[in-house]
Formats: sequence, C-alpha cells, structure tokens
Amino acid sequence: MKPIQLDSIDTANYDAIIVGSGAGGLLTGLALTAEGKRVLIVEKEDRLGGVWHSYWADGYRVDNGLHVITRVKNGAFARFMRNHLSPPPEFVLHDGWEFRVHDKTGTIPSTIGETLRWPLTNFRGRLGLMKIGAKIKTMKLEEMETYKDISFLEFMQSRGATNQVMLDVMQSAIFMAAGVGIEKASAYESLRTLKDTDKESGKLKSAVKLIMGSDGEYDEGYVIGGMEGLISRVIEAINGDYVLNAPVEYIHSASGVVTGITAAGTKLGHSLIISNIPLWSMNKIVRSDSAETQDFFEQNSKIIPTHGLTVWLGLDKIVIGDRKNRVLVHPNPNRWIVSISSFDPSCAPEGKELVAIAMMTIPGKSTEEQVQIMKGHGLEKYHPGLLEHVEMEHIQTSYATRAQLIPGQTDLDRPGPRTPLKGLYLVGTDTAGSGVGLQQAANSAECVLHALKEDGAI
Ligand SMILES: Cc1cc2nc3c(=O)[nH]c(=O)nc-3n(C[C@H](O)[C@H](O)[C@H](O)COP(=O)(O)OP(=O)(O)OC[C@H]3O[C@@H](n4cnc5c(N)ncnc54)[C@H](O)[C@@H]3O)c2cc1C
Repeated sequence: MKPIQLDSIDTANYDAIIVGSGAGGLLTGLALTAEGKRVLIVEKEDRLGGVWHSYWADGYRVDNGLHVITRVKNGAFARFMRNHLSPPPEFVLHDGWEFRVHDKTGTIPSTIGETLRWPLTNFRGRLGLMKIGAKIKTMKLEEMETYKDISFLEFMQSRGATNQVMLDVMQSAIFMAAGVGIEKASAYESLRTLKDTDKESGKLKSAVKLIMGSDGEYDEGYVIGGMEGLISRVIEAINGDYVLNAPVEYIHSASGVVTGITAAGTKLGHSLIISNIPLWSMNKIVRSDSAETQDFFEQNSKIIPTHGLTVWLGLDKIVIGDRKNRVLVHPNPNRWIVSISSFDPSCAPEGKELVAIAMMTIPGKSTEEQVQIMKGHGLEKYHPGLLEHVEMEHIQTSYATRAQLIPGQTDLDRPGPRTPLKGLYLVGTDTAGSGVGLQQAANSAECVLHALKEDGAI
C-alpha cells in the first residue's frame, strides 16, 4: 500500500473504500488483496493501525493495544495470517499463566488432577471448582447463549459456585477480557472466554481434555520480530493506497444504497464502503433518509467501550526475565504484568527489560492516582526490584475493548458486517465475533469477507 493525497484520488481505481485502519480495517484490506481486489484506506489519524500500533518512547518500543496475542496456534488471528499473509508470522509462546492471591500462586487448572491440587483454595473450594469447571468445559455454545442476559456472577450463584477465591480468579480473567467485573459481564461471553469457544469441541472431546489435559491449552504468545514488524508487513502486503489525516465526516446514501464519503471536506464517490469506525459514532456519520437505517445506527451507538491503562516500565537491568503472564488477583486491583522484551528483545536495549503492567481504569480516579494504585498494592512486595530499576516510564490510556461484553452488547446483540444500506459494511471489534482483541478483529474481517462474497459485492 502506498500513501496518496486526498486531492489526487480517483475512486474508480479501487474495488472498495475502507474507512479506518484499525486491526479490523487493515485485516479486511489484506483479505481483499488475497481476493485480487484493490482498496483505498481512509484514516483520520496521521498513522495507520488504530490502537494496534507501535512507537518508541525513550529508547524502548511500546505497542499500543497489544501485550500478548491469544491463541497463537489455532486462534482466529493466527488462522487469518496463515490464510492471507505469506509467509505467515511466527509466534513465540508464553511460559504459562500465573495468578497470585496474596502469598500463593497458581496457574489455570486444565485437568481434574490439576484442579484437585490447585494451591489457591482449600479442598472444599477445589471440589466446587472441579464441579463448575467440568460444567463449563463440556457446555455447548447453544446452552451458553441462553445465559446472555444474566451476569456471570448470577450464573455462578445459580450453580452454587460461590467459593470466593475461585470467583476472584475468574473475575481477574473476565475483567481483562470483558473490561467489567463478573457482576456485570454477560454470563454467555464469560463462559465463552473461559471455555475458549474459538476451539469449540464436542462434549466427549471436552471431557477427555478435562481428564487428560491438552498441549498448548493456553497458547498465548507474541509475534517474532515484534508488532511493529508485523503491522508494516500487513500494510506493505495490501494492494491499494491509503490517505492519512482524513477524518470521514459523512457516509452518503441514496435510495437505500451507499454512494460515497466526505473525508476532510472532500467528497469521494463509491458503491462499496467498509467502515472500521467505532459503532458509537456511526449514527453521526451515516446520512440516510430511511428510518430503518437511522434506527440501526442509533441503536448501535449505545455500545459502551472499556477503558484500560498500561504503564510501560523500561528497566536498566532484567528483573523479571521470563515469558509468564502474571495476574495479580489479590491485593486488588487486578493487574496484568508481562515482560514484553522477554518475548521480543528488540523492544528494549540489550541487557534491559520492558515490562507492561495493565489494568482496567478505575472510574472517578485521575490517571496519576491510578498509576500510584498500580504501583502499590503488593506490586513491590511480589516483584521486588521492579520499581527500583525504572529508567523509562510511559503511560497509555485507551479503549481496550470497543464493546464491553455485558448483557445487551454481547456478540449476539451486535450487528455483524451488514447494515440496512446496500454497499455499506462494518468491521471492527465491536461489530461481532468471538474472542477479544486481535482474535475478534480477525473474526470480524472474515465475517465481512463472507458477507461481501455472499452478497456478490466483490
Ligand atoms: C492497552 C490495550 C491493550 C490491549 N491488549 C491486547 C492484547 O494483549 N491482545 C489482543 O489481542 N488485543 C489487545 N488489545 C485489543 C486490540 O488491540 C484491539 O481490540 C484492536 O486492535 C481493535 O481493532 P479495531 O479494528 O476494532 O479498531 P480500532 O483500533 O479502534 O480502529 C479504528 C480505526 O478507525 C479510525 N477512525 C475512527 N473514526 C474515523 C473516521 N471518522 N474517519 C476515518 N477514520 C476513523 C481510527 O483512527 C482507527 O484507526 C488491547 C487494546 C488496548 C488499547
């Protein structure tokens, strides 16, 4: 893909216009390229990638919107890359999860044996966990769907699964995925996260896995060469052009058919537009006389995102030095600690370390107050030396997930790729699709591609 100026665009050169270059927009561009199509990407910022991008901060390379990639073996993102980018990226795997509850640590138990030895709770708690764990692991998607309008806590209470430590550990996992606590998160989405429905298997297979375990159950990782390398490869591989600093003010339509966009005051006509703009602002952008279209975007504008805070610490020596995914469950608040340079050494100068500490934002507190909370509450006790070797500190705040996974905005409630306007499609992590983050972006790009083919739009 090459940059182009707004005033030199001839839209007849493109099979589609993609508005917004987040992961959803870029991956759609990649998929369309594989179909032999040429695209124009129109982006409001001065760079591509949306929240999926990298930059340098005082000698360290920080990735916004990426700490680890989930399901790097068979998840939607890895699958998408294998299908559309040649050669596909390779990933380095993490060394497992470590959940801390005060002085005890444990991983995610994936077999009955591991559950019965789980160090974070007493024997009664372990039995309870075994019972509910077996239920969740063998539950089919159709049953999960019936719980979409209740919270995960309500689901657990209805099953008598009320052991507090177990709930606290689940809370930390769901909090990071859904951006809200278990008292708010939809039970359906929480169950999908815990079961990992991206790899949905039959009841018998699930039961076997429960007893025997399975290799690479939690196959999180990071791309070799870092995110910066991957994003630039994706950008390079897309067939087409991109224009930056071009906020799309309007998407136009006539008689139920999309006709083009206005970007930074310039009108660009086209009959196929794929929008990666967050759904909460689309109602102000789409111009249509049709009540159905207006209602559609009005309804979807109510989607609420989650907000996250990441503190990046550049350390003058290696303090953590491993690829574990650590979650501080207690003391609260839940924090996720990853030594990014242990996955991708190019992020930090030699002999130094880049550590990311992430949490969901705490409403009503300033960023400074939250950073202090992040650095307190057991961080020093359980990671001695971490705060003594800081030579670079960089703070990011951003929406972590474009749609909170709460009742009313689960993937079953979200619109998917189609809109009431012919020729206007949606892509992005708030449109639909299982998984979180890049998995969801890849899923949504696949959905758009299917819809475009099914509708004969490409
Ligand atoms: C701090 C943080 C940590 C994360 N950690 C992980 C992780 O560890 N693993 C993981 O898989 N995922 C993670 N994610 C999530 C993942 O990065 C995002 O979900 C994903 O990149 C979002 O992609 P998207 O396509 O939905 O949207 P976005 O990135 O929101 O892209 C939307 C694009 O549209 C553009 N745009 C908006 N309005 C207009 C307009 N009017 N005109 C033109 N352009 C417009 C925006 O500028 C942007 O480029 C994290 C996110 C954050 C913020």
